[in-house]
Amino acid sequence: MSKTKYIFVTGGVTSSLGKGIIAASLAKLLQERGYSVTIQKLDPYINIDPGTLNPYEHGECFVTDDGAETDLDLGHYERFLNIPTSQANNVTTGRIYQSVINKERKGEFLGKTVQIIPHITDEIKHRIQLLGNTGEYDIVITEIGGTVGDIESLPYIEAVRQMKWELGDDNALVIHLTLVPYLKAAGELKTKPTQHSVKILMQSGVSPDVLVCRTEHHLNDNIKRKLALFCNVQQESIIESIDAETIYDVPNLMLNEKLDLVVLNKLKLATDRKPALKEWNEFLKRHKNPKNTVEIGLIGKYVELHDAYKSITEAFIHAGAVNEVKVKVRWIHSESLTVENVPDKLKGLNGILVAPGFGGRGIEGKIDAVRYAREHKIPFLGICLGMQMAVIEFSRNVLGLSDANSTEMNAETKYPVINLMEAQKEVTNKGGTMRLGAWDCKIDKDSKVFEAYNTQQISERHRHRYEFNNDYKEQLAKAGMIATGINTETNLVEIIELKDHPWFVGVQYHPEYKSTVLKPHPLFVSFVKACLDNL
Ligand code: GLN
Repeated sequence: MSKTKYIFVTGGVTSSLGKGIIAASLAKLLQERGYSVTIQKLDPYINIDPGTLNPYEHGECFVTDDGAETDLDLGHYERFLNIPTSQANNVTTGRIYQSVINKERKGEFLGKTVQIIPHITDEIKHRIQLLGNTGEYDIVITEIGGTVGDIESLPYIEAVRQMKWELGDDNALVIHLTLVPYLKAAGELKTKPTQHSVKILMQSGVSPDVLVCRTEHHLNDNIKRKLALFCNVQQESIIESIDAETIYDVPNLMLNEKLDLVVLNKLKLATDRKPALKEWNEFLKRHKNPKNTVEIGLIGKYVELHDAYKSITEAFIHAGAVNEVKVKVRWIHSESLTVENVPDKLKGLNGILVAPGFGGRGIEGKIDAVRYAREHKIPFLGICLGMQMAVIEFSRNVLGLSDANSTEMNAETKYPVINLMEAQKEVTNKGGTMRLGAWDCKIDKDSKVFEAYNTQQISERHRHRYEFNNDYKEQLAKAGMIATGINTETNLVEIIELKDHPWFVGVQYHPEYKSTVLKPHPLFVSFVKACLDNL
């Protein structure tokens, strides 16, 4: 008998119902009840990881401490649970097939015909149990990406069926997230799509134990009875998930609906300790009662899709709550900026954030925005590419190195103030080859960042190929741009600041990945405070 219990979350009817938020909210409640929980996401696409995906496809690529490039849902898991995830928390079909094919090449299948069942399904089961087998978790929640009925989800559903059968009802259960649409003309909520999606699940031999129903209107008893009867689910296991004002309300909504109780009873786990959500609710209270509003411009090239900057906007919410201010984001497309229109487009902003990114599109607009922030003494945070743009802007407009650039944008530049590390020059593969994951950094005591972090030793997550070129460090420092954070092992510059500016910080790493509800990121807290001071 296994010690760890498994919860599977599947989705029906449509995508975008918020499986990740439901999984994270349930995990939060179980955590508050004293269980150690982790969440895993299985993605049915063939990319090995989302690192090679354009942000327009799937939104932000989230990075873990161990350097995995993962689905943005892992960001939600970390923000809700306040514990780090790792490579094991995100698995794609590509990765599953890659490891099965590697084993085949090594002869590990001893001459057998390699098939989806059992070889792919065994590999899926193995990946699910990896987390459970660490012995660290009482409960592992596995979210299956996609919607039931998709061809590509079938092996995952089959793996879930097998695991449920092998582990027994007390040790594994399935939550099916579905949509109960409201037909305005009929004035009614409709259960038929849910009935159909449960039927599809059942055709694969999986009967859901709990239905979580996304809805715009409350489900009355009648509807719940109907769903229970036709979907073969107990009535108390029909959980309403009504539209929420913020994703951070969902744990409380699920608590009211007793999702955690239903789950624990089915898994025969103790329910005596009640979820207090004390710190969580303190955060919510501050988040919902801001005393002020600051407006921050987010300059990026994927701004049409806000999900491309998910961790940044969530970090603003966490930092806003600490400062008791609402952070309003003005989305600004870097390609739309020119020297002429910058004063107009950035007018009235209390702070400017230049976002991460890859490639040359829109970078001149980013540089113009940096210049405006520097000259007008507007609080500025540059993240990764944003930091590199700050170095380029300063080199061009203060040092007078007119052609200064990153070799990513112009390999022939006379002044490569940002260039490729030696180790990166040989790399030709695109996937998983950047400087990734957690790296240490030592901070200068006499700096804005030290005031923010209040410690000299930090560790932050990276995802980039290009670096600050140390040949220009002295020249930049003399003119007022100081490297205030350094990786002492490699001597790579991780942070730059301006001396004569109220708050101007560029970081080569991604602070946004480490901001959680219970641990808002110090740099974001300090940046938002500077914006508030600039009201
Ligand atoms: N394109 C830049 C690099 O590779 C910055 C990457 C980023 O912003 N994450 O160094």
